[in-house]
Amino acid sequence: MEQLSARRRRILTQILPAVVPSTYGDNRFGEIDSNWTPGCGYTTCGGLPAYVSNHLGQNPSHKKRGYGLGGLIGMRNAALRFGAWVHHDPLATQASIARGEAPKLPRPGDYYLLCSGRGRSTGCNHIAPTSQKMAWRYKGATIEHVGIIVEAKGDLGRTADAGQGYSKVTQQALYMFCRFNAATGRMTGEVGAKGRPMRRLCGWVNIDAFPFTDGQAVVGAGPQHVKWWKE
Ligand SMILES: [Zn+2]
Repeated sequence: MEQLSARRRRILTQILPAVVPSTYGDNRFGEIDSNWTPGCGYTTCGGLPAYVSNHLGQNPSHKKRGYGLGGLIGMRNAALRFGAWVHHDPLATQASIARGEAPKLPRPGDYYLLCSGRGRSTGCNHIAPTSQKMAWRYKGATIEHVGIIVEAKGDLGRTADAGQGYSKVTQQALYMFCRFNAATGRMTGEVGAKGRPMRRLCGWVNIDAFPFTDGQAVVGAGPQHVKWWKE
């Protein structure tokens, strides 16, 4: 059994079980997203990591400056700023497997992001502008989903995902089985609005490295070099 940090264990054994599984209409789901209503047109996937982040403690001054772990692009931006973003490198993953080594992949507790479309290599590792005025400068791929890794063993795993259920009628937060295909860098498991697509692993938030106020960040986990957009 792999050794997990106190923060990771707290996410898996205390924070997630308080709200997963849950369904729109019950109190537990209201903790993840209290605004969603049938037909309102968005999915609630970002609500689950936001809930976890709030329980780990978000620094109010980071949040005020827009570096809180909220939203999809906002979450990746914040992780990039604090050296907690790990951009998935499919070629490095394949090379590790060919050498018989364990590839660098998200671990239990990490927030994983899936993306689609062009712009992965030029956009997904850069802080994206959040203002409408500057959005044209961002050429990254589209972030499709965010969820939380619960268990990872080779190409099989389990995740905790909100935004499940038929998205226009109801929303659920569930533990899902997932499969990671190292040859393509794609993951399947969580259910998107159009069924069960294989979607590309964009990268993940290394949850040990993020400066939550629980005082349990692992020192030396970051930062990495990132490109900053001037806003
Ligand atoms: Zn991406």
